[in-house]
Amino acid sequence: MPRWTTTPPAETHHTTLPIIRTPARGEFSGLITSPDQIGCPTHYWHGRTIPCEANDCEPCQQGNPWRYHAYLTIWSRKKNEHYLFEFTQQAANKIAEYREKHGTLRGHLLTAHRPSQKPNGRIQILLQPIDLSSIDIPRPVDIQTILLHLWAMDRQSPTNDTPRPSRAKTHKLNEATRPDPTPIATITQQIINHTTNPNGD
Ligand SMILES: [Zn+2]
Repeated sequence: MPRWTTTPPAETHHTTLPIIRTPARGEFSGLITSPDQIGCPTHYWHGRTIPCEANDCEPCQQGNPWRYHAYLTIWSRKKNEHYLFEFTQQAANKIAEYREKHGTLRGHLLTAHRPSQKPNGRIQILLQPIDLSSIDIPRPVDIQTILLHLWAMDRQSPTNDTPRPSRAKTHKLNEATRPDPTPIATITQQIINHTTNPNGD
């Protein structure tokens, strides 16, 4: 029997968010929706970033060095898009200090750019509290679940050095209720542009 309701659910179910990284040129900014960041050692392996698995880690066994990557969720108010923001250990240290001082990251404005304007240049992060009284930011989502889903999706795909559309699949909050969504092709292109950094940085 269908579960009929006269009012739609408050939010759509989503299992993933697009990953976004600091662009080489320009800046990225948005409101952080997660209370904290979370990260883990990763490998850049066969053209993609995968987690370092403590036991039985093939990249480790073959001498591939690991790098720490951290993640938080961020909402672009301008685009009404919710993203998983990936950043380096150096940026994570700065964010951890800020989290310690303010108790949470949620609701704080993050602006990131690379002063060198190089794809792998050092990331400069600016964090600031803002007045949330007139802004309704998306609820936090489970970052670990989303990452496991994305990494599992990658494992199922054949080894390939070019980004795959599945990686850039967008699951937006309140998709059904957005009045004039940006065409998916445009969003996908933007995301591909942000996920083609050859060093996974
Ligand atoms: Zn490893």
